[in-house]
Amino acid sequence: MKQRPAYDQKLAGMQDDTLLVVLNPDARAFVRQLAATYRFSFQELRMVSQAGRDLEMWREASLRELWEQAEATVSGEGRERKKALLRELDCRLAALASSEKTYPDDPLRGPAHRTVRLEESTTERALFGRCAAYSDRTVCCGLHTIDAVMGCPFSCSYCTIQTFYGDVAEMQADLADRLHEIELQPDRLYHIGTGQASDSLVWGDRGGILEALLEFAAENPNVLLELKTKSDNVDTLLAREIPRNVVCSWSLNTDTIIRNEEHGTASLRRRLLAARSLAESGTRVAFHFHPMVHYHGWRDEYGDVAASLVSDFAPCQVAFISMGSMTLIRPVVRQIRKRGGETKILQMQMVPDPHGKLTYPEELKVEMFRHLYSAFRPWQEDVFFYLCMETAPVWEAVLGRAYATNELFEQDFARRCLSS
Ligand code: SF4
Repeated sequence: MKQRPAYDQKLAGMQDDTLLVVLNPDARAFVRQLAATYRFSFQELRMVSQAGRDLEMWREASLRELWEQAEATVSGEGRERKKALLRELDCRLAALASSEKTYPDDPLRGPAHRTVRLEESTTERALFGRCAAYSDRTVCCGLHTIDAVMGCPFSCSYCTIQTFYGDVAEMQADLADRLHEIELQPDRLYHIGTGQASDSLVWGDRGGILEALLEFAAENPNVLLELKTKSDNVDTLLAREIPRNVVCSWSLNTDTIIRNEEHGTASLRRRLLAARSLAESGTRVAFHFHPMVHYHGWRDEYGDVAASLVSDFAPCQVAFISMGSMTLIRPVVRQIRKRGGETKILQMQMVPDPHGKLTYPEELKVEMFRHLYSAFRPWQEDVFFYLCMETAPVWEAVLGRAYATNELFEQDFARRCLSS
């Protein structure tokens, strides 16, 4: 007679498709013990392993603590008790996710440090494209992109560029020639960014990247070329003349988020000093508050960043300011959990947006954007503000306006920024 496999054999067969294998040793042993005691199905094993992974990444109470608290409150026996315990665990995690999370004084430790090499490569990949998140279902600026480099040395916990491209950042070898091949309509305005698959300034002018991009901007006055960074590497730009249609933008966040979630990047202070030196040299700057993160202290800290900008820059030096919230696609969520390292980015109440991406509930986003926008009251008349990846109702609620079409937004944006 054929024998039923022992549960540990079944567990061995199921575990590779769950996060059990990447849990820290204590949590892994505990989940194994629970699985054997309660005879977890594959779905149950997956759910409990994920709970364990989230708790260790969030640096919150351990899975053992939460499970023991649940055991102390849940009654019943057998299968019913197991179901009730799993529901209780789920509720406790949801409560941790929806509360205003607190970042510790001792910053979270991200994934292991990586060294990323920049290597030239001759590829046939399309250099020029559209922002990957562009959509007709949100009010979109129609950003175009030039992917001069694919790969990033920074380790922001909410980004997976580093996971996709690994330890080599690939730089287009014949960049100047490839830029000449881009076909643009002369009677149309374009907003083109170079910081979607990498950081625009972190590599400096290695391989002549910046020189080629600045030449491209000079040859195409109908292009607003945006160099976006979380670095303070502005030496190349300070040393040469920058065409008027080039804007250098900084992705900004609060000190707390930079320290805990944007590993390897320049501090807020260094980013702002770099932005100031460039603005003082005559190049227009811009700022992206994206992703705004909901945590204990967010109001004061985002308000403080806005106050520093208002006091340190003149509105005429600032081309635009954008705001966006934490928005993640499901494969990125899976990658973040798999990659590990401590982060509270997934410790949030996640609801699907119009594309099924996971983001904060709309009321919370509106509250956060309104708060930041109101901190920029002295600039609201003079600086162009927009929201990234948001719907028309959110625009109306925050900015009191929206565009009827993305084409109108795109042209209005480029026209304002190119004429100022
Ligand atoms: S609004 Fe944001 S998502 Fe939409 S095209 Fe612009 S940068 Fe991309």
